[in-house]
Amino acid sequence: MIKLRRSWIKALKLIFPSEDLLLTPEHKLIFGTDSSRILDMPWAVVRPQRPEQVRDFLDFAQKEKIPVFTRARGTNMVGACVPKGGGIVLSMLKLNRIVDVDEHDFVVVVEPGVVTYELQKTLCAKGLFYPPDPASVRISTIGGNVATNAGGMRALKYGVTGDYVLGLKVVLPGGRVLNLGSRCHKNVVGLDLTRLFVGSEGTLGVFTRIYLKVLPLPPVTASFLVGFSELDHALDTVQQIFQAGILPTALEIMPDLVLKCIEAIAPVPWPEGTNAILLIKLDGHEQGVKENLAELEKICAKANVQQKGMGKDEERLWELRRLVSPASFKLKPNKMSEDITVPRGKVKAAIESIKEVGQKYDLPILTFGHIGDGNIHTNIMFDANDEKECKNANQAKKEILKIVLGLGGTLSGEHGIGLTKRPFIGWQLKRDDWFAMRQIKRVFDPYNIMNPGKGY
Ligand SMILES: Cc1cc2nc3c(=O)[nH]c(=O)nc-3n(C[C@H](O)[C@H](O)[C@H](O)COP(=O)(O)OP(=O)(O)OC[C@H]3O[C@@H](n4cnc5c(N)ncnc54)[C@H](O)[C@@H]3O)c2cc1C
Repeated sequence: MIKLRRSWIKALKLIFPSEDLLLTPEHKLIFGTDSSRILDMPWAVVRPQRPEQVRDFLDFAQKEKIPVFTRARGTNMVGACVPKGGGIVLSMLKLNRIVDVDEHDFVVVVEPGVVTYELQKTLCAKGLFYPPDPASVRISTIGGNVATNAGGMRALKYGVTGDYVLGLKVVLPGGRVLNLGSRCHKNVVGLDLTRLFVGSEGTLGVFTRIYLKVLPLPPVTASFLVGFSELDHALDTVQQIFQAGILPTALEIMPDLVLKCIEAIAPVPWPEGTNAILLIKLDGHEQGVKENLAELEKICAKANVQQKGMGKDEERLWELRRLVSPASFKLKPNKMSEDITVPRGKVKAAIESIKEVGQKYDLPILTFGHIGDGNIHTNIMFDANDEKECKNANQAKKEILKIVLGLGGTLSGEHGIGLTKRPFIGWQLKRDDWFAMRQIKRVFDPYNIMNPGKGY
């Protein structure tokens, strides 16, 4: 139901020219959902082209106590963009300039709507490197990545988005503007509010400018696929790789059920009887990468398959990893995707316990992903048209979350809390910690208009 008052429409029209203020249902519909597929219709959508419009809009929104749902590409999986309960969607996609690439400072300055892959391409052409690489890199934005502290496969060696954010310009509800951090790679003056805003899921303020640290581009990359007859051998090998002093760029695991799914849709390089695959990526100078590859071959001498590739030749190996998502639907038509994370030493216990949950509820549950940092993607496969399976999938999810917390893990390593994980946040956060977070929110957003009902 549209709850916009006439006076509000009048005020909005003064800030946004007609094509940047969307009021009709057919225009607004797409802004009501995200990758969670939960839908709630916004009252209106605004699309600023200049930071001053964000300031004026947040001034107006606070005065009128209107809920504001900031969004970028809407690729988040947890309903963080859904305008639940109604309000105005603030789309940041038109603020999409790469403002400055400074090869001397090793700093780039961007507006939030820049698509991450576009930035990476621009930097690569100048011999620079921005490591964070969420699998959504071609469809998500730097602003969204910062607001979710997005991770990716390269997080093992290079860390996550937040590790590259040097500074932020943030507009707060009421129109105040914070200039946090700087272009300096080190800065310990005052409280680190930049870090506070990273991962804040649109609940505190709106970024209009982002300062990022960049690195020199590694000259060479190489990849190594290795197969084992036992999951245990793969897990032991991970330990041996680190013990050998090798820190891979990425280190991914695909256990038996995942391999069976891939085998059903594509030719695979591993022989029958393979029950776990490790996919390893290296980068650096050619000599060092070659030495590491040789060391990996030695460590994995007992494996039942080894394949390596350098440069463009690596892609055929990573294509197999990209097949996991489409292949999973061979098992069941629907999935619940969890991105649980456990301490690295507890990965084996987590994978085994999750397998038992699958057996208990008679559902296929895929576990795979970032073995190197304990971030295990967990896909509970089920049929949404089958009432019993739906119930079982929900029960299985709860049981898995409890197991993960019991192992000292966390409900989410990448996707955040948004709407869908909110019912479980009290399982992880202690009462006083949670209370402190709510108090901090009140400092920046006293009327709770920024993405209400989301996150912590
Ligand atoms: C196929 C696929 C693969 C994915 N792989 C990964 C992965 O490997 N790693 C990972 O971490 N995530 C992954 N994701 C999740 C998602 O891509 C990330 O959360 C991403 O960072 C969201 O970016 P976005 O531009 O789509 O932001 P949106 O989804 O539009 O917004 C995300 C959050 O950011 C807030 N926000 C957006 N812009 C601003 C701004 N300017 N100021 C303040 N708040 C803002 C929104 O309010 C919302 O809370 C994947 C998603 C998909 C669909």
